[in-house]
Amino acid sequence: MSDEPIKLPEGFAPVTAGGVRDHRCEHDGCGNWGGWGFGKPKHMSHWFCFEHRADGERFL
Ligand SMILES: [Zn+2]
Repeated sequence: MSDEPIKLPEGFAPVTAGGVRDHRCEHDGCGNWGGWGFGKPKHMSHWFCFEHRADGERFL
């Protein structure tokens, strides 16, 4: 169970606990849990951790 809030850009469907998979932060050499998803709706494929979530904004 995670008590981390999941924040997604507007327009994304909320990610339920059952929908959360093994997304890892894409930041080079990080490897933390990528709780933040970025990308176009239905093409969300870039994931970053809290620390590196700003990296994902270029995919929006
Ligand atoms: Zn990271």
